[in-house]
Amino acid sequence: MRVAVIGLGTMGAPMARHLIAAGHEVTVHNRTREREEPLAALGAARAASPAEAAKGADAVLTCVSDTPDLEQLLLGPGGAAEGLARGGLVVDCSTVSPSATADIAARLAERGIGMVDAPVSGGSEGAEKGTLTIFCGGSDDDFARAGEILNAFGSRITHLGPSGAGQMAKAVNQVMIAGTYASVGEGIALAQAAGLPMPELLEALSAGAAASWVLSNRAGNMIDDTYPLGFKLALHRKDLGIALDEAAREGLPLKTLDDGAMERLRRYRWPGNVRELENLVRRLAALYSQETIGVDVIDVELAESVSPAARPAGRCCRAPAPVRRAARPASCPDGSSGP
Ligand code: NAP
Repeated sequence: MRVAVIGLGTMGAPMARHLIAAGHEVTVHNRTREREEPLAALGAARAASPAEAAKGADAVLTCVSDTPDLEQLLLGPGGAAEGLARGGLVVDCSTVSPSATADIAARLAERGIGMVDAPVSGGSEGAEKGTLTIFCGGSDDDFARAGEILNAFGSRITHLGPSGAGQMAKAVNQVMIAGTYASVGEGIALAQAAGLPMPELLEALSAGAAASWVLSNRAGNMIDDTYPLGFKLALHRKDLGIALDEAAREGLPLKTLDDGAMERLRRYRWPGNVRELENLVRRLAALYSQETIGVDVIDVELAESVSPAARPAGRCCRAPAPVRRAARPASCPDGSSGP
């Protein structure tokens, strides 16, 4: 199959690699053109615009950050819809608005182009290993055609309804993940404050009812205070905004997001170097545990109290102050060092 891949970030680049490995004829395009080079070294052709990438392709695979990016690269000037022939297919693996997706699919259909929304879950590890969970929306026919592409990097691929259904399922996924991050962060803060042996504790927790993807894949980062780039905090904030918008459309309050910690996270503009969700959760948990071993990790007063503008002179963030062992220094959210 001739596939154009547009958006070569944390997720899109490994997807393109899997398509090349599966024998597809791949053309790549990314806004920052240098990101095309490693794929070109593996045999992909490069294109200067989405329209050029889509020319002669059977399908366009997109994996970009947000809804306006997707709309622009598909339907804007020089967009993929200009290059893709009638009968072509767009497979979108970005996480974007379900309502906007249905609208974009309708506009593509006017040009005779099909679309499957296919947002993914499984993190950067899932993309690298080709084991992503994929939530799909679109017609039966388009979903069947998308299979050849999605099978290259997905291990569980589920068709959930018409255009937008895949994105709606992903919004549900993100609501659940956000809550899990918060509770894993709080649990770790409590365990560290109590001086429990962390490696042994993680193994024990993973074998019980507290097991989760976040615990298995991200708790280690929180404990080591090391956050390699995976899922950007800004992207999760964007996803929670999508979930809240869709919930409001349904007239359904999402209590955890609306009234609790996650709504504050959604609104909070964290400065500087905190780019991973688990980093933010862990740092707030760490700060909170200095005051009291407690809950409500992402409390808005706490967040404000540690922002550089509002933080009282002399107070600095550091790793949890465990009751029974020495505190390990960490850098502040604003990049300065702890005491
Ligand atoms: P990312 O690393 O920021 O990559 C996005 C890529 O899209 C960037 O390379 C960006 O180009 C490119 N791009 C944006 N607009 C473009 C345009 N108009 N034309 C061409 N290229 C464009 O993000 P990511 O982590 O791969 O995430 C991509 C999507 O997957 C997001 O919707 C995210 O929510 C979702 N997702 C991510 C994860 C994860 O763990 N990372 C997991 C599941 C789902 P530049 O290089 O110029 O910025």
